Amino acid sequence: MRKLAFGYSTRCNIRCEHCVATDDIPDNRKMALQTAKDLIVELAQAGIGGISFSAGEPFLYLNDMTELVQLCSQIGIYTRIVTNSFWAKTSESADSIVTGLKENGLCQVRLSYSRWHQKHINRNNVLNAARSCQKIGLNYFISFVTDFSQEDESHEQFLRDHGLTFFPEPVIYAGRAGDFKRRHIQTDYQANCCIMNPYLSPDRDMFACCDAGSHFTKTNFFYLGSLNDNTIEQMFVKSETNRLYNLIRTMGLTPIASFAGMTSRDIISYGKCDLCRILFNCPESLTRLWTNLPHMEAWCR
Ligand code: SF4
Ligand code: SF4
Repeated sequence: MRKLAFGYSTRCNIRCEHCVATDDIPDNRKMALQTAKDLIVELAQAGIGGISFSAGEPFLYLNDMTELVQLCSQIGIYTRIVTNSFWAKTSESADSIVTGLKENGLCQVRLSYSRWHQKHINRNNVLNAARSCQKIGLNYFISFVTDFSQEDESHEQFLRDHGLTFFPEPVIYAGRAGDFKRRHIQTDYQANCCIMNPYLSPDRDMFACCDAGSHFTKTNFFYLGSLNDNTIEQMFVKSETNRLYNLIRTMGLTPIASFAGMTSRDIISYGKCDLCRILFNCPESLTRLWTNLPHMEAWCR
């Protein structure tokens, strides 16, 4: 099923230190509501079955989100909203908002949570939001962004103590987190495949990766183009037929890194997105990978 991270607006009401947003100046780009509605109809025609309304903070435009979710529901698109839970100060306010969205067809909420988010938003907001979802029957999960340091253990314990559904997610060392001190990791020698959901920005630019991909500025490796010059179908076909993207999806970043000459000892000290950046946000490395693509595709056991 084709899926898309839909960037309706880049505006956020908080400023997390780890956010992949880079600008010092507040970034307040937003799509017009009617443009978003027209795009959603086009997305359905192109076979997109799931939309995740992602960062900035979509709940800043609650009325617009309600209309967009309702439209998606009418035309059979699964919807998720990613949020920092600022709106869930009390269980009453959380219940009222969750009820409204559920009635309009929202399928899932993803609640962002981390020691960085929680410097701005009381963690009880996340608890209120999750409890409302449980009560009202809206699917939810908590995305627990972590650098796996000891500091994060009490935050994780809070989620466990309240029996909440959560999934740890490694912080991405891009944007404001670009200067963070990297954690020392030694993972298993695992493939590091990535499913790569595309991202659509408020300016109608599309990227093949919804996370740090739009920040690969040295090579623009993940940039698919603008919807001003391409149809949605063309962009998806570009994403689905790019041979290097397909190797990221199927072979994984670890074998690509090994093929590119990184030692196995070095490879296991990087997370997935970091490996991806080393390989694909370096013009020389990218040129080498394109040149050697047929050998790499045949490089299987
Ligand atoms: S990580 Fe999310 S909540 Fe935090 S500043 Fe970025 S968009 Fe806002
Ligand atoms: S591994 Fe690469 S393609 Fe996958 S999310 Fe990270 S930056 Fe994007």
